[in-house]
Amino acid sequence: MPFPPPDSPRAPPPVPPRPREDPPPVQFLKGVGPARGRLLGALGIRTPVQLLHHYPRTHEDRRRATEIADLKEGGTAVVRGKVARIVFQRIPGRGPRSLVRVVVADDTGSFEAEWWNQPYRRDQFHEGDEVVMSGKVVRRRGLRMTSPETEILEREGEAREADDGGESWGRIVPIYPLTKGLRQREVRRAVLEALSGHLAGVKDPLPPGLLAGADLAPLPESLAAIHFPGDFEALERARRRLKFDELFFLQAAMAIRRRDLVREERGFAYRLTPELDRRIRRRFPFAFTAAQDRVVKDLLADFAAPHPMNRLLQGDVGSGKTAVALYAMLVAVANRRQAALLAPTEILAEQHFEGFRRALSGSRVRIGLLGGGMPRRERRALLAASRKGEVDLLVATHAVLEGDVAFADLGVAVVDEQQRFGVNQRRVFREKGLRPDLLYLTATPIPRTLALTLHGDLDASVLDERPPGRRPVRTVAVDRKGEAGAYEIVRRECAGGRQAFFVCPLVEESEDLDLRAAEEESRRLAERVFPDLRVGLLHGRMKSAAKRKAMADFRAGRTHILVSTVVVEVGVDVPNASVLAVLHAERYGLSQLHQLRGRIGRGPHPSTCLLFAAPGSGEARRRIDALLETDDGFEIARRDLEIRGPGEFFGTRQSGLPDLRMPEALLDAPLLDRARREAFALVERDPDLSSPEDRPLREALLERFGDRIGLTRV
Ligand code: ADP
Ligand code: MG
Repeated sequence: MPFPPPDSPRAPPPVPPRPREDPPPVQFLKGVGPARGRLLGALGIRTPVQLLHHYPRTHEDRRRATEIADLKEGGTAVVRGKVARIVFQRIPGRGPRSLVRVVVADDTGSFEAEWWNQPYRRDQFHEGDEVVMSGKVVRRRGLRMTSPETEILEREGEAREADDGGESWGRIVPIYPLTKGLRQREVRRAVLEALSGHLAGVKDPLPPGLLAGADLAPLPESLAAIHFPGDFEALERARRRLKFDELFFLQAAMAIRRRDLVREERGFAYRLTPELDRRIRRRFPFAFTAAQDRVVKDLLADFAAPHPMNRLLQGDVGSGKTAVALYAMLVAVANRRQAALLAPTEILAEQHFEGFRRALSGSRVRIGLLGGGMPRRERRALLAASRKGEVDLLVATHAVLEGDVAFADLGVAVVDEQQRFGVNQRRVFREKGLRPDLLYLTATPIPRTLALTLHGDLDASVLDERPPGRRPVRTVAVDRKGEAGAYEIVRRECAGGRQAFFVCPLVEESEDLDLRAAEEESRRLAERVFPDLRVGLLHGRMKSAAKRKAMADFRAGRTHILVSTVVVEVGVDVPNASVLAVLHAERYGLSQLHQLRGRIGRGPHPSTCLLFAAPGSGEARRRIDALLETDDGFEIARRDLEIRGPGEFFGTRQSGLPDLRMPEALLDAPLLDRARREAFALVERDPDLSSPEDRPLREALLERFGDRIGLTRV
């Protein structure tokens, strides 16, 4: 494959010579061209090498077709044949239902492929198309496949493609993630071109010793086999190598960040006495749980170490993370330094501020709340006070931190609900010239191995115990027939002096629809269902003052029911609320529902979680079943991961990591351990990855993470 021809507007100028040649765009691969090049671009593929890293989502064994006469009920099979007939049927009854049946024949017989409620399938096929169908074979009025994987190999009347069979038949065939307008066959051909022209230029970033020691296949060989493996063993070997790369790069990045953290010096020492410990604990109306005590020990050890704290505190909803965070902040304040707590929403910032104010009443600690909606003058005054060190403890929304806030001498910063932000806050602080001790709080418990992957540069503590006196929450799935009974529960609780949250449907596409739904729902509940009760409304688009009032009314018991959009999701603490009703619970993710449920069961009263759900898809059913069966956050996270798969579960926003090319790598615990050990050992040996042997790895890391980790280009 030639480099861009000289007349191409994209051709790089011949002089001056560049230190590294830009790779040629993928469109110059034979058979790709500008239109397909753009489609590939939509998948994030700009160069042939990036195309080589566009891994198939699965493979299909098309080495041999099963003859239709040999199809067996219950088995899976790959069939090659011609479309003999296409039948479209509307099925009368409730809701629009349709069925597309495609009769496929080979020399030995025929069978049917069928698709329910996918009317567009009718136009996908023409009679006479040469097709592949693969899937599970069932028997219902003859043998058939329901929603098989399918591909058109050849269409009558269309120019026969030069090389039928080379990429799509007669071998183990890759199936790629696509974008609209792009066909499997086209991607396969482009990949074959990239393999023949660009594989030789791929350098293996892993040092040879490491490859041998961990029994890993070389990169070029693995890239060839991940696309077009000779057999499934070769595919497995390629997969292992590429999974290792994912894990190893992540861990190397962690090791480098960790290296930087340990190099940093705090530059002063905290005074930590038993007297101080007692004074701080007296501020709480309860004794710490054993788990909280353990975490406090971790914190004290961090404060005694020479470099700043970087600790992640994992604890299920309601486990009492805030108290531990306040403890840490008060250590800083007692040592005449400032402390800050960052919350994801104003409502939560406000709640923390009020809680701290109560806990600190009568003390000399000066606390401030910096929210989005405060009057200009007040805000300016508070910012000035913070800059001059006249505020000891500042509670702020996260947005504020990114803005113009400054500190005289910030000692401890707490990031609440870390899972919403990732862990890049140290950078934000550093850009402001601050090096605080950092404590991240997260209510998304994940298994230890996964925590290491995502937060392997942090120290970790776990709050694995709930404060005493909590009653378990009773969880009930409510269908249409159960609605009246569910409302009765709400009415009874409110009559007994308790309160209820109603969380409104989530409409992904549009915030406006969310609002309308919430407003309509609150009207319906207020006017028709609970005319005898007081119903408040809270959603994200309300003015700060209105939000504050809605929350304050609910907190003070002036409203019985608070109808809201998911703004109550994080952190809200109203112990008197004993009912949480989630409308359209089938639309929420499992972890999200668990978080929502954590809003209740916080006081001494028995609580009920009502999940209003239409019996929907299998997945929704599994999520709701999981909630009915357990309220252990770790178990919930495990199930969520199982249901959604690691790619979805670890959204990049949450993890702060780059998109993974092989998210399933995160589930391979032994490989992860290995990658972690190797990566940390390597960074220990060659902290800047500057030896010639480690140079390719350094390049690969820079390419992957840019300047997000502490490597600089030479
Ligand atoms: P989360 O970990 O979800 O942030 P919070 O910090 O909001 O949980 O604490 C939940 C509730 O538990 C709060 O009302 C808090 O006052 C209470 N709490 C925390 N620690 C204890 C404890 N040791 N004993 C009794 N109640 C506690
Ligand atoms: Mg919290």
